[in-house]
Amino acid sequence: MVVEHTCGFKRDIYCRECGTELIQNPRGELLCPKCGRRPAILCPHCGKLW
Ligand SMILES: [Zn+2]
Ligand SMILES: [Zn+2]
Repeated sequence: MVVEHTCGFKRDIYCRECGTELIQNPRGELLCPKCGRRPAILCPHCGKLW
């Protein structure tokens, strides 16, 4: 699943723990559907927290 940051940057991102593709909740936060983690990732485009 391609997730989109608030700045418009799009990419598919994988969980560092289990390798599952991350999904995005309605608030735009990243979430791993397998292990339930909310990984803190900086957007490589704008540098802000995803
Ligand atoms: Zn995971
Ligand atoms: Zn961004």
